[in-house]
Amino acid sequence: MSKVESSPYLASIPVYVPGKPIEEVAREFGLEPSSVIKLASNENPLGPSPKALEAMQRVIRQLHLYPDGNAFYLKQKLAQFLGVTPQHLSLGNGSNEILEFLGHAFLRPGDEVVVSQYCFAVYPIVAALFGATLVTVPAHGLAADIRAMIAAITPKTRMLCLATPNNPTGTLASRDDIDRLLDEVPPHVLLVMDEAYVEFLDSPIDCLPFIRSGDRPNLVVTRTFSKIFGLAGLRLGYAIAVPDVIGHLEKVRQPFNLNAIAQAGALAALEDHEHLARTKSNNREGLAYLESSMTALGLPFIPSHANFVLAQVGDGLAVFRALQRKGIITRPMGSYELPEWLRISVGTPEENRRCIHALSEVLGKDLPQEFVNQVG
Ligand SMILES: *Cc1c(COP(=O)(O)O)cnc(C)c1O
Repeated sequence: MSKVESSPYLASIPVYVPGKPIEEVAREFGLEPSSVIKLASNENPLGPSPKALEAMQRVIRQLHLYPDGNAFYLKQKLAQFLGVTPQHLSLGNGSNEILEFLGHAFLRPGDEVVVSQYCFAVYPIVAALFGATLVTVPAHGLAADIRAMIAAITPKTRMLCLATPNNPTGTLASRDDIDRLLDEVPPHVLLVMDEAYVEFLDSPIDCLPFIRSGDRPNLVVTRTFSKIFGLAGLRLGYAIAVPDVIGHLEKVRQPFNLNAIAQAGALAALEDHEHLARTKSNNREGLAYLESSMTALGLPFIPSHANFVLAQVGDGLAVFRALQRKGIITRPMGSYELPEWLRISVGTPEENRRCIHALSEVLGKDLPQEFVNQVG
C-alpha cells in the first residue's frame, strides 16, 4: 500500500536528545527518586520562585477559561522589566518555540542559516525543518569564531544564530565580537542572539538599546524563563525585536500558545528579585566549587559564564553511565561531537558535592580532603 508522503525535510532533521527525567533513571536503576539528582538540563536547583508558585496555585481555579491570548499583563510587566514596549515582545512556549516561529516567518527552502560548531542543538533542527541549509562554521577552540561566521554570510543567508553564553560550551562572546556582529551582519540577515543565560552575567553586553532605537531592524534577542527563573517545566520564552519583526512572529503563533498557568507564574517570577539574587549567588558559588574541584581532579574544563560546566572526562558516555548508576544525571556530549566531554549543571551545594565526589570515584582519582568536606 502506498503511504502518504511526508515532508522531504524530515529525513534530515537531527533528533534532540533531552536529559533523562529523574523518575526514569530511578526506575531503570532501582533507586529512590528522592536520592536521584539531575544536573543535566541547566535547570534552577533552587526550584521555582515561591511567589510564582503561589500565583500559579491561584490560577488553577480558572482553568476552565481560555488564557489571555495576548498575555496582556505579562507583556506589560515584561516590557517594564526590560525597558521596552509590549510591541517589542513576542512570547512562546519556551524560547525553542520562538526559534521555530522565526523559521516559519523567515526561512524558505534553500535559505542559509549560519551557526557555529558546538552551537545549541535546536538551531540545526529548525533550519532542517524549513528546508534551509545549515552552514556550520568551525569553532576557534571551543568558542564561536565570529569573524569566520560573518565571512560565511552569502546573499542566500537569512539567519545567523549565536547563543551567548553558549550551551553546551559556556563560552561568552566578547564586546568586540558583539560590536562586529551588530556592525557587519548585513540587513538581509536576521541576527538571532540567544540570551538564555544572560541573567547569570554580572555585566552583560546590552543589545537592547539597538532594538529600542530601531537602529537594528534585523536583530532578534531571545530569552527564557527556563533557566535563572526556574520555570523550565512551564515552557515560556520570548523574543525582543523591533515591532515589524514581532508582527511577523505574532502571526505565526497559535492564538493560545501561552497557557494561563505560565502567564501567572512568569508574571510573579519577574517580581521575585530575591529569588533571582539567591539563584545567581548559588550559581556563582557552585561554579567556583565545580571548577576548582575539576582543577583538583586534573580535569580540563571550559571556564563557564552560564550555570553549567563542560569538562573533559575521557569517555564521556561511560562516565555519564557510571554517574547515572550512582543516581547523578549529567549530560554526555556525543550528539554535539564532543564525546570526551560531559556537561554538568550547577546544583545546590550538596548536589555539587555529591556529584564531584561520585566523579572522583568513577574516574578513580583521589579528591583532596578539603573538597570532600567542603560544602561548596
Ligand atoms: C536552555 C536553552 C534555551 C531555553 O529553551 P526554552 O525552550 O526556553 O526552555 C534556549 N537557548 C539555549 C542556548 C539554551 O541552552
